[in-house]
Amino acid sequence: MIVIKGISASPGIAIGKAYVVEDEDIVVERVNISRERIREEVARFKAAQKATLRDLDAAEQKVLKVLGKQHAKLIDAHRLILKDSLITSDVPKRIVDECVNAEFALSEALEAVNRQFEKMDDEFFRERRHDLFDVGKRLLLHLMKRQKKSLADIDHECILISRNLLPSDTLSLKETKIIGFATDLGGKTSHTAILAQSLEIPAVVGLSDVSRRIKTGDMVILDGEQGMVIIAPGPETVAKYEKVQQRSLAEEKSLEGLRGLPTVTMDGRGFRLETNLDSPDELKNVVALQSDGIGLFRTEYLFLNRTDVPSEDEQTKAYVAVVKAMDGREVVIRTADIGGDRLSQLGIEGPKNETNPFMGLRGVRLFLRHLDLFKTQLRAVLRASTKGKVRVMIPMVSSVGEVVAARRLLEQAQAELAAEGVEFKEEIELGIMVEIPSAAIQIDSFLPHVDFLSIGTNDLIQYVLAVDRINEHVTHLYDPYHPAVVRLLDHVVRTAHSKGKWVSVCGEMTSDPRAVPLLVGLGVDAMSVSPRMFLRVKQAIRELKHESMKKIVAKAVTCAESDDIRRLLEQNS
Ligand code: PEP
Ligand code: MG
Repeated sequence: MIVIKGISASPGIAIGKAYVVEDEDIVVERVNISRERIREEVARFKAAQKATLRDLDAAEQKVLKVLGKQHAKLIDAHRLILKDSLITSDVPKRIVDECVNAEFALSEALEAVNRQFEKMDDEFFRERRHDLFDVGKRLLLHLMKRQKKSLADIDHECILISRNLLPSDTLSLKETKIIGFATDLGGKTSHTAILAQSLEIPAVVGLSDVSRRIKTGDMVILDGEQGMVIIAPGPETVAKYEKVQQRSLAEEKSLEGLRGLPTVTMDGRGFRLETNLDSPDELKNVVALQSDGIGLFRTEYLFLNRTDVPSEDEQTKAYVAVVKAMDGREVVIRTADIGGDRLSQLGIEGPKNETNPFMGLRGVRLFLRHLDLFKTQLRAVLRASTKGKVRVMIPMVSSVGEVVAARRLLEQAQAELAAEGVEFKEEIELGIMVEIPSAAIQIDSFLPHVDFLSIGTNDLIQYVLAVDRINEHVTHLYDPYHPAVVRLLDHVVRTAHSKGKWVSVCGEMTSDPRAVPLLVGLGVDAMSVSPRMFLRVKQAIRELKHESMKKIVAKAVTCAESDDIRRLLEQNS
């Protein structure tokens, strides 16, 4: 039995036989051509380009059907690559200047860009190489008149193992019997990982040489939770994992009955239990959960994987769809938190290669630099507010001045819409994410300026503890139970309550049933949970006593070590 550790790209467990996809090497030879043939060679390249464009159109239709509009933007990104001057001008130029065949000119051009990508510090940009090669490979296959081996042809249940999996390949997995995949390459932020999560296919990436160590037909266990692959597991290990699988299926079933039941502790303290929404693809699930609302609508998906800014109409349409689907239940729309690891390719002036993007021009900081973008989003939110209950929330606030500026802009947007005769709700609540320590420490100064608060524990923890939330080397230091974190949470809740303001929490901490007793004891008013964990968290709350948890938290805030806090919670919940 061999265990290989990689990066968890999509959760879940798959047990089955491996199917190893050989990365068919396309050998491109340099062929010198005569001057007379240049025109013909360029024409051949242009024809391949057209054929590739047709491929992308067909792929787009498929994606729209299977995954919806949001993921179809990936195809747009590929189309942009195909139309980029690198392809449209550089390749013909190489054919002409060097008198070489189109295949060679193309592979040289791709290699030149690859070298640029490789030099980039930023993982997000480095990952975009895969999109480039995806398009490049399609072009080459057309030029060579070869067919791409289609994963859709795999007609039996298996775990796919390959050196890499291109985003376009990942899209076709939904139509196959592939129950999970593992790749040598890849990172957490790749399109491939994002798509695997949406498709709910367990996946582990970054396994370095897994595709050479496994042969088709080998028995493997893919553990998307821990980010590892077990080759040739012994019967005991298989039995253990099968049990885990069965347990989680049975657990999910048993939770079904909780839908629609109130979220209230055994001693009668009610909590608003809301869901986070990261992409419109999740909306149907979210609606079915019958949550109290959407406590965090992450709107970044509208701004990523594209080079143009989403228009006011496009945004309004997206927000209206969510607000309408929630049918009178509240939706907290967060203005886009672009920056950090969510780097945009929008053609706006701003940071391209920040050395420390999480400390950089992110969230409200970026939007206050680009007031036009900020105002457009606020106008769209206001327009959508007529269709239901909407609140607006500002991310990454670190000083009161930012809230004042955001409110001023909101009022400006309202005045403009009124002057244009466009409908909107005048009474819209404005809140902030409390996710930067300065805002948490100084929360009393913010309270007169905001209608509500939502604590973003994901960022708050990383900034309080100086632990990069996406850096695997310091994951062990990322600690929600650190006394400094617990004390700060307690401070925010107490101060807000003393001024009659309600507090929500929307970071991943709400989605961890082990952390729920702490949040209950802290007395937060609402929790916004990832849809997958919603019912589990509801169950955890219903099994607790608020008064007992309050006493535990009173002790926890005096602890010096997180282990003591953990122990207190474990012993008493
Ligand atoms: C957070 O920081 O806790 C949060 C919810 O925001 P995001 O994860 O989108 O940064
Ligand atoms: Mg955040």
